[in-house]
Amino acid sequence: MNQIPNADLHCHSVVSDGTLTPEELAARARANGVTLWALTDHDEIGGQHRALAAARAQGMNYLTGTEISVSFAGKTVHIVGLGFNPDDPDMIEGLHRTRGGRSERAMEMSDGLAKAGIKGAYEGALHFVGNPELISRTHFARFLVESGVCKDTYEVFRKYLTEGKPGFVPHRWASLRDAVNWITDAGGVAVIAHPARYGFSANEEYALFTEFKAHGGRGVEVVTGSHSVQEAARYAETALEFDLAASRGSDFHSPDESRIDLGLLPDLPANLTPVWDLLADRIQ
Ligand code: AMP
Ligand code: MN
Ligand code: MN
Ligand code: MN
Repeated sequence: MNQIPNADLHCHSVVSDGTLTPEELAARARANGVTLWALTDHDEIGGQHRALAAARAQGMNYLTGTEISVSFAGKTVHIVGLGFNPDDPDMIEGLHRTRGGRSERAMEMSDGLAKAGIKGAYEGALHFVGNPELISRTHFARFLVESGVCKDTYEVFRKYLTEGKPGFVPHRWASLRDAVNWITDAGGVAVIAHPARYGFSANEEYALFTEFKAHGGRGVEVVTGSHSVQEAARYAETALEFDLAASRGSDFHSPDESRIDLGLLPDLPANLTPVWDLLADRIQ
């Protein structure tokens, strides 16, 4: 690309835990000036063909996307995949397995919430689910807001859905190695999502970046809706230190919940290699 694109390479539709369809997201992205877009639903690529068609209809360039849940050092880490073949059978099967167990986990979450006095949370959360294989904490959060238990989803996560809270149930997701391999073997580039969110120690974070690179990972999100300006500056340094390309994405989920809208983000620092430079031949 000759011009710097307005790239938004991280957002969610009703295929995972967003509230808009791929078509609605594409229209909103275009209205906000996005020129290069990727839909990155959690552990799911079922929306990719629709998203590509919608991007075409809006005159935007498109990269295929997903955001894979990974268990690493006792925490959940998210790995974004960009520019892979959405029909790759190993990737489809791997993501299918990663989605497995969400229903059982959701029922356990509901039991935990019931003990804290909140009844019927599983059934309540189901009303918000667009994809039956992908019931997530976000859907519980929407139910707890709708039923008046909390004022917004941030309060729900703080009080009920994070480690040590009544609705939190630990889960075993994909391995870092598998997630990076599925993406790269399908022709894509793996990117560490929002690294500031994990609360890792310096040693754990070093291990994450080192192992990610050893498996073939090539990018890190620097400018994201999940990072403050200071965090973006910090991970710009980390990108240089580990020789990783940089990505940019809002992590938009919903007009009512997300603090940053599609495409309305600071530019990547000019001294970094944008991840789309690695994916020039994958842009559709
Ligand atoms: P799950 O994959 O079911 O564990 O749900 C994870 C999703 O919950 C993330 O993708 C976010 O959309 C949302 N989420 C996680 N932590 C928070 C938080 N602290 N505040 C708001 N939303 C969160
Ligand atoms: Mn989410
Ligand atoms: Mn994430
Ligand atoms: Mn996300």
